[in-house]
Amino acid sequence: MSDVNEYRPPLLAGVVGYPIDHSRSPVMHNYWLKRHGINGFYIPISLAASDFVAGIRSLPRLGFKGVNITIPHKVSMLGLADSVTDRAALIGAVNTITFKDDGSIRGDNTDGYGFIQNMRQNAPDWDARSGPALVLGAGGAARAVVSALLSEGVTELRLANRTRQRAQLLADQFGAKVQVVDWNRASDAADGAMTIVNTTSLGMQGQPDLLINIDSAPKAATVTDLVYAPLITPFLENAAALGLKTVDGLGMLLHQGVPGFELWFDHRPEVDEGLRMAVLDR
Ligand code: NAP
Repeated sequence: MSDVNEYRPPLLAGVVGYPIDHSRSPVMHNYWLKRHGINGFYIPISLAASDFVAGIRSLPRLGFKGVNITIPHKVSMLGLADSVTDRAALIGAVNTITFKDDGSIRGDNTDGYGFIQNMRQNAPDWDARSGPALVLGAGGAARAVVSALLSEGVTELRLANRTRQRAQLLADQFGAKVQVVDWNRASDAADGAMTIVNTTSLGMQGQPDLLINIDSAPKAATVTDLVYAPLITPFLENAAALGLKTVDGLGMLLHQGVPGFELWFDHRPEVDEGLRMAVLDR
């Protein structure tokens, strides 16, 4: 018979970044922990680059099941993990790690998964295979989006970035379906694009607006913006005014958290309106 007073330590997970104050992940994971009645905590951990390796190595000894990794450590984590998923290797960055029983670290990248799940949930008729995609930006988030769209079967992906060379590097890695378009010709590339994605930081609070005209997009196109603060960016506002289907970026953030939570806490959480409200209220 088990001892009713037996102490069960809480399950621990968290998010490691520098700075970490901006992260909405603690609200999200603690919402899920409460919702599922799990004895656990999800903790923001601030680790500067100089403390990163030692800090990560200490976490399993402190009882952590795993953590999310955010700016600026996503690329360094790729080198520190003992093994990584194919999608993390392809994206070239890790945002979710799990400490295995043998002490090894498994790295994953769930950003592309979050992107696709957000599209599926909020634009159920959307299909990456329905026509060309236009991706604006070629930074870290773009790598996840490009990789996810190609996995979903997009046949032609037009990639425009202010710094053309960065887009070219991405195209060289991902193959012939990715075609680089000049930043100042991005509006032309909206012609026929059934999926249009802003992965730049333009439109974020404190940043200039994204001023790419997408008037030539087909009426059946779906437009999404990875920026979620503000929730409805001027770019999405304009797309909606053109009568296009729009999807905001908050759902991507929420969905990318699902695989980590499931691995660490052994429950698959839902992305629902209650969660959106909790994270928006933060
Ligand atoms: P990043 O690696 O720093 O890339 C930034 C991108 O924005 C680059 O393509 C950069 O172009 C472009 N950019 C910045 N300022 C510009 C300007 N004034 N004019 C034209 N282009 C400009 O950042 P990231 O990690 O990819 O993140 C990008 C955005 O996605 C951020 O707003 C981030 O919050 C958001 N995001 C959202 C989610 C989500 O879950 N919804 C997930 C990840 C990221 P250059 O190459 O020319 O500098």
